[in-house]
Amino acid sequence: MLMNYRGRLAPTPTGHLHLGHARTFWIAQQRAQAAHGQLVLRIEDLDQARCKPQFCQDIYEDLRWFSFDWQEGPDLSPPGDYGPYGQFQRLASYQAVWQRLCEQRVIYPSPHSRKDVARAIAAPHEGDREIIFPQTLRPTDWCVTDQPGEVNWRFHVPDGEIIEFVDHQVGLCQYRAGEDFGDFIVWRRDGFPSYELAVVADDHAMAITEVVRGEDLLLSTAKQILLYRALGWIAPSFYHCPLVRDAHGKRLAKRDNAVALRSLRAQGLTPAEIRQTWNLPPSS
Ligand code: GLU
Repeated sequence: MLMNYRGRLAPTPTGHLHLGHARTFWIAQQRAQAAHGQLVLRIEDLDQARCKPQFCQDIYEDLRWFSFDWQEGPDLSPPGDYGPYGQFQRLASYQAVWQRLCEQRVIYPSPHSRKDVARAIAAPHEGDREIIFPQTLRPTDWCVTDQPGEVNWRFHVPDGEIIEFVDHQVGLCQYRAGEDFGDFIVWRRDGFPSYELAVVADDHAMAITEVVRGEDLLLSTAKQILLYRALGWIAPSFYHCPLVRDAHGKRLAKRDNAVALRSLRAQGLTPAEIRQTWNLPPSS
């Protein structure tokens, strides 16, 4: 028997939703509806310095205006059986995942401070250059511990191995570990998990069967597949959507207010008009 479809919308409340989010989320909703499945709203608010409660409220409002409808989420009462639905409230579950990875010795403590440490908490998007961590900086020996402590932890990737998956939109994707990406951060010295660890932990815990997101996260999916494998979890299927671009071909950014849903709404545009420009069908 087929598993019940469970999809998710996973916005980060560091700004307002724009056309890019609306399009990707609309596709996510369409796929959930077509499969008679459930849609989960998860707020990815781990970056407490940049995430604002007001953006969260605005996100709920903008999503509803656009006719999004989710069956589980932090704003619903009751929220659902897989909560809490905000990542900041799920820290203990991430540390439990860190502990398992540590005991399996597939991760290692890495005192080296690199630029990518700072941005490890956020999903890597287009334009974020992949920095390959030098294999020579892997520690030769380290002890399993029960607290991550104030040090970064990295996943030891299988050098040379091709990580492949079939994306439902893009098709066959192949990335070579150690070349296309290196030992990536799973835990940061400030006590927070990286985006990859948190998103895998949540998608698994929330029984998500398909992840729909932007195609700039394809490489990150390869890393996430390594985490699923190390944890002995079945990975969901993936559907990476083409990005909405501006007139210069650049991916839309949150700081660009012109494409924010609320600016378009203020100008009198309707969701139906916006969807029409992408040939997206109305909600069912
Ligand atoms: N919160 C992440 C973002 O802003 C979501 C990434 C994902 O869907 O896995 O891109």
